[in-house]
Formats: sequence, C-alpha cells, structure tokens
Amino acid sequence: MRMPVLFVAHGNPLMLDLAHRMQELTRWGQELPRPTGILVISAHWQSRPLTIGASQPTPLIYDFYGFPSQYYQLSYPTPPAAELAAQVRQLLQTEEVAYQEQPERGFDHGVWVPLLGMYPAADIPVLQLSLPGDNPKTLLELGQTLAPLRDEGILILTSGYLTHNLRQWTDDGIIAPWAAAFDDWIAAHLQARDQQSLLDYQRLAPGVQQSVPTPEHLVPLFVAMGASTDTDPVSFPITGFEFGSFSHRSVQFG
Ligand code: ZN
Repeated sequence: MRMPVLFVAHGNPLMLDLAHRMQELTRWGQELPRPTGILVISAHWQSRPLTIGASQPTPLIYDFYGFPSQYYQLSYPTPPAAELAAQVRQLLQTEEVAYQEQPERGFDHGVWVPLLGMYPAADIPVLQLSLPGDNPKTLLELGQTLAPLRDEGILILTSGYLTHNLRQWTDDGIIAPWAAAFDDWIAAHLQARDQQSLLDYQRLAPGVQQSVPTPEHLVPLFVAMGASTDTDPVSFPITGFEFGSFSHRSVQFG
C-alpha cells in the first residue's frame, strides 16, 4: 500500500476552536489509509543542513505570541518515532544527503495544529525534519529521497500555506484578488503536473510578490511534489480562504 503525500495549510492555534476547520481536518485524516508513522516538514523549522528532530516524547514548541493562555498548555504526546528516524537516516545516507540531529527539538505549531485535527488520538509516531532552505529544486530532490517511505506506510506531510502575507489580512470576507490568482495558478499547474512552471513560480505566477513575500510557507509543497509521481492523482481536500488572503488549499498526491 503506497501512502499519499500531503501539503497542509496548517492554520494557527485559534483554529483548534473552530469546529468546522477541525472537522475538515478530521474527515481528511479518516479518509486516508492509516499510516504507521508520519514524517512532517513544516515552514516553522528552517534549518540547514537538513536536521532530524526529536524521536522520543519531547515538549511541544509554542512558537506564536499573544494568543490566549490555553494554547500554551496543549500537548500532543505521540509514541516514540525511533524506527521512523532509523528509516529516514538510512535513506539520507544512501542518497548521500548531509544531515544533523537535534533530538531535543519538539514539534512546532506547523506540526501539532493540523495533527490535532487529523489524528486527535496522537497514537501514531511522528518525526519532524527541518526545511533545509527555500530552493525549489533542492526541496524537490529531498522529496524524491524520502519517497520510498510511502511504501513503508509512512505519511509524508508537508505544512505551510500557499499564500501567506502577514501584512495583508482582513476579516471582511472579501478575498484579495492577488491571493485568488496565485492560489488558482498553483492549483491549475499542480493538476496539469507542470513541474517546470511550478519550479519557476517566482517568475511565472500572478500575485507572487504579495502572496509569497517570503517563501517558507509555500516551499514545503516542493518536498511533497518530489515525493509524488506523475501517476498520483492530485486532489484538494480542503480549499477556501481565511482573513481575506490566507489560502486553506491543501493538497493530496496519491
Ligand atoms: Zn505558519
């Protein structure tokens, strides 16, 4: 059984109290084949060289500011992921990918917010890998290196946002045209499997400057693309916008 590969719009801790948002994630988790482990690459841990995070239970990282206090007391106590870490090391060594380890590094909110929705029981081992830079081609190659995990029952879950501009949000329900244009362009080129254009998004995509003022939330998508193949169907289990310009669009390959 070959596991799908995901790109998830990870939201923020407030989403945990939005029932419709959590239901979308829970439904998605229930529709997927049950993984034996989850490997996550989040926009909120950028570190080069590639770094392997904690594989033993470790406190969460509350990497957000000014939220109500209950969000700083959440936990997501998953089983140890030592076996998954060993599988990842093996692949990296085989492909001669340089890496380091940071075994005290817990999960950031790009990991635990969506996983609390998708797998609320926290009963599947989870391992986080850093996002090693923002070069689309390098990240595509990382995805190719990790792809064999799909045949071992591992869910590769990349976490970001297709559009993410913290200076341009509103709550008036009107979608910013530049965000809609960028989101549409990405969706159309994913469905067309037009990898060359996607790799060149900075030059080709409409609305790119406002939608992606910094690349870290978009580029985890390239790891997911790299771990997918042309025969994987592409679907968007969650779509829509919040705050006028943050795309919820989440992608499933396979
Ligand atoms: Zn984020």
